[in-house]
Amino acid sequence: MKTVAVLGGGIGGLAASFYLCKNPQVAKVIVLESSSRFGGWLWSLRRSDGAVFELGPRGIRPAGAVGTNTLNMVEDLGLEEAILPVSYNHVASKNRYLYVNGQLHKLPSGISGILKTVAPFSRPLLFSLLTEIFVKKGREEDESIHSFVSRRLGKELADLAVDSVCRGVFAGDCKKLSVRSCFPWLYMAEQQRGSLTLGFLLGSGSAPEIVPGPLAQRAKREAWAQWSLKRGVETLPESITEFLQQSGKVELHRDAAVGQIIPTTSGWKVHLEDGVISADHLMAALPAKALSCILPPSCQGLVQQLQDISTVTVAVASLEYEGSILPVTVMMGGAWFQNVFGAPQAVSADSLLARATEAVRCHLGHCVAPSWSHVALHRDCIPQYHLGHFQRVDTMRAFIKNNNLLLSLIGSAYDGVSVNDVIFSGRRAVAELLGGGV
Ligand SMILES: Cc1cc2nc3c(=O)[nH]c(=O)nc-3n(C[C@H](O)[C@H](O)[C@H](O)COP(=O)(O)OP(=O)(O)OC[C@H]3O[C@@H](n4cnc5c(N)ncnc54)[C@H](O)[C@@H]3O)c2cc1C
Repeated sequence: MKTVAVLGGGIGGLAASFYLCKNPQVAKVIVLESSSRFGGWLWSLRRSDGAVFELGPRGIRPAGAVGTNTLNMVEDLGLEEAILPVSYNHVASKNRYLYVNGQLHKLPSGISGILKTVAPFSRPLLFSLLTEIFVKKGREEDESIHSFVSRRLGKELADLAVDSVCRGVFAGDCKKLSVRSCFPWLYMAEQQRGSLTLGFLLGSGSAPEIVPGPLAQRAKREAWAQWSLKRGVETLPESITEFLQQSGKVELHRDAAVGQIIPTTSGWKVHLEDGVISADHLMAALPAKALSCILPPSCQGLVQQLQDISTVTVAVASLEYEGSILPVTVMMGGAWFQNVFGAPQAVSADSLLARATEAVRCHLGHCVAPSWSHVALHRDCIPQYHLGHFQRVDTMRAFIKNNNLLLSLIGSAYDGVSVNDVIFSGRRAVAELLGGGV
């Protein structure tokens, strides 16, 4: 493998480049990013007084194989000193609230929390977990998250708890999102153990084996629930970029929008505004719609599937209040953006700010105006894995294989939207291309 071009310099593209760069079979990696910075949605606003406000992701989970993989990468990059862990014992982990019917309700935590009835729920969580064991296995190949959880754990948990999780992770509607694609471990628990409770207790699925390095071991020992980085999550793409620059094997191009890609007998021609690049293999780490726009007519089968992956728009308001140490972040819109605010291109920053401060007043009782604020509108930032997403992804990968396209699909549009999932999609694509397993 001589030259691999990586399209898109978000965390997916950078992670793929990181793993490519470490592989002796690759002679050259070319990263093409349309904007003037690398990192994509990993974007930290750093104020001159040292305060950091995250405009994109703010917490990365250490759990599972993909969590271990990211921590191993963080360690490889020498970022151990920069890490900011939040353990399960921290107040931020223990104090989680649901806002239901105009009131905040503290969620139960620990074993004692699941034994008693805690508002807004009408029965103890333990009751739902035990009765779930006797619920029959579903017959559908896929199901909405809401329908799946209602069937297994009851409508109340689906309406209140799972709906909130889906809003928090996907900014999406749990009645449309696919359980199989969004929460594969829930789907696998039912398939393999016939129950979520048994799946949780006995294990299910076939997670890749990732050997934890010292940092991942420390995360386990210290019971980290999440982690971030002291100067913001953007430190991660910055550090990968530096690593790539120093490797001597990677060409990094900012302001390099890919216009069109054309397959050739031995690889691809990549058309940019000011020239054409040849590559033996392409790793596309672009949003699905951006990739659909640059594919040639011979890839129509792929184009349609890519365009069918919808996305949502999220507004992120960062607010600072006099006397309050922690900043407040309000994320708004998602699957409901259009209904609440109208067309994203027509909405004003002032109206988003007004809605955010109103939510803080109503939920947290902060009646004064924020002393500082920043509003960012992220158009089409989170892909939505609607019902049948797994078939769409299978169809796309089959098209690529059947047409002998030297192309890998990476990033949040396919196999998971979390930072961990996206990084792992880069690692898996490199392993599939060059062998060696993950
Ligand atoms: C507001 C928000 C909060 C989030 N919070 C969390 C969180 O707390 N924890 C978590 O784990 N995850 C979180 N996520 C999800 C996670 O951040 C994203 O799924 C992930 O960053 C996506 O990375 P990516 O590389 O796939 O895509 P992107 O970041 O979208 O990168 C794609 C890149 O391709 C470039 N590009 C587009 N078109 C072209 C072209 N034609 N040519 C060249 N380049 C092009 C873009 O400029 C971009 O840089 C959050 C996401 C958002 C938006």
